[in-house]
Amino acid sequence: MKAKDQDELVFLPLGGSNEIGMNFNLYGYGPPHARKWIVVDLGVTFGDQTTPGVEIILPDPEFIREHAKDILGIVLTHAHEDHIGAVAWLWPQLRAPLYATPFTAFLLREKLRENEDCADAQITEVPLGGKVTLGPFEIDLITLTHSIPEPNGLAIRTPLGTILHTGDWKIDPDPVLGSTTDEAAIVKLGDEGVLAMVCDSTNVFVDGEAGSEADVRDALADLISGLRGKVAVACFASNVARMDSVIRAAEAAGRRVCLVGRSMHRMAAAAKSVGLFVGIKDFLTDQQAGAAPDNEVLFLCTGSQGEARAALSRIADGTHQHVKLGAGDSCVFSSRVIPGNEIPIRNLQNRLADRGVRLYTERDHPGIHVSGHPCRDELARMYHWARPQIAVPTHGERRHLLEHAAFAKDLQVPQTVAPRNGDMVRLAPGRAEIIDEVPAGRIYVDAGVLTPENGDALRERRHAAFNGVLAVSVVLDGRGKIVSGPLVRALGLPADDDYPMDEVLDDLAGEAQQAFGRLKGDQRDIDSEVETALSRAVKKASQRVWGRRPVVETTVLRV
Ligand SMILES: [Zn+2]
Ligand SMILES: [Zn+2]
Repeated sequence: MKAKDQDELVFLPLGGSNEIGMNFNLYGYGPPHARKWIVVDLGVTFGDQTTPGVEIILPDPEFIREHAKDILGIVLTHAHEDHIGAVAWLWPQLRAPLYATPFTAFLLREKLRENEDCADAQITEVPLGGKVTLGPFEIDLITLTHSIPEPNGLAIRTPLGTILHTGDWKIDPDPVLGSTTDEAAIVKLGDEGVLAMVCDSTNVFVDGEAGSEADVRDALADLISGLRGKVAVACFASNVARMDSVIRAAEAAGRRVCLVGRSMHRMAAAAKSVGLFVGIKDFLTDQQAGAAPDNEVLFLCTGSQGEARAALSRIADGTHQHVKLGAGDSCVFSSRVIPGNEIPIRNLQNRLADRGVRLYTERDHPGIHVSGHPCRDELARMYHWARPQIAVPTHGERRHLLEHAAFAKDLQVPQTVAPRNGDMVRLAPGRAEIIDEVPAGRIYVDAGVLTPENGDALRERRHAAFNGVLAVSVVLDGRGKIVSGPLVRALGLPADDDYPMDEVLDDLAGEAQQAFGRLKGDQRDIDSEVETALSRAVKKASQRVWGRRPVVETTVLRV
């Protein structure tokens, strides 16, 4: 296929650029009015204390939804939530065929089963190192190493040049499970010529190398062999190599493994589906583990990030049905603290320590965890192999992307572009530049409902959380006279003996009554007029009492 006069090749991140999470990348090819698109990854990010009640956040597909018929396919690089977590939520708006390697496909099928609107979704399983052709895009999968089975980089060939989309990666000389990074394939691609490399920026501030899973395997074996009493190990379930290392360390120490937490079971099933976990003993059930002698059991747990509902948190609270840890037992955190989770993790560790559990973390035992993302030496090697004309940093916050761009420049990459979500980058023809800005926001999954980022429900909930709630009610008769009330009730607001709540609420009701008294006859016939007057009066009085403006909800009833 040859490029026509008006054809352009563009890269458009709609998530994952200026943040770590929610990866959603698009490549477009064709004339500006008739581009064909491929999507690479469709992931989620997670809520925090600023989004009370919202755990899952999706990238807003508004722009590409309008071009849904021109999406040729959705290619998923690997099975981390920040790369596939949004598929089951957003596929019904995109409805394009899905492509993934077997391990990712296994987990994806499970997710899609949970949403009946995804019943028509087609997943094509691509073998490792396989090929997908979607219109003008010829895609070769390149096996990399990361912290989950089957991480794939994509060599995307188009008539206007080749892109190396790395996905998440590191260079692990011994990843424990799976192949090593396919250096030869990348070097060969570099020899052919790489127009642009779109690359992971997570560890751009870290010198040296991320370190090998094999070293973690040895460190865990050493540590676990010396432990007495019950042992719990917390790690990400998706790091199947880590699970495998823990399981083998346990068996070498004469312990049987019990998986604790739903995602441990899910990942173990996915791992077995692709032929991993061979030669290990069956896992103990919760009941069997509960009955086993302390020195013969190891619990492999979810919840290393202090997630409130995860297994480890319940163990720390003493509310887990089968797993109890106490004095003389040990808990190993084979994980890092993800920025933003410092406080929940510290709380979790304090609760475990309070039970007498000995803690082992990366801080005091540096060998028991390594990152899955490339540090500076690894980035330098990748640039050396691929030799791209254009460096496009992604998978990072603003500071990561800018540092990565500067680093690529130091490595003699001729052009660098660090886009924000929604920036459309023309990669060819001509110099790489941002040619358009399209809508790119976030969608919150709030109680299972997709809501806009600044939707009313969350805004009101935040306001209520910080300021409290007042409910005002009044009953009027047919002639607009008060039959009962106004009555004011408070939620989440303080009072003390000097000015008890009863009196405060009576005073607020008095202010509401006076405000009602100031309304003219015809205003009293209109509910909204009455509501506005009452809530305004109560808000004003609240400012005097508490120095804040609670959410005020006014109800007018007529008899
Ligand atoms: Zn990622
Ligand atoms: Zn990843």
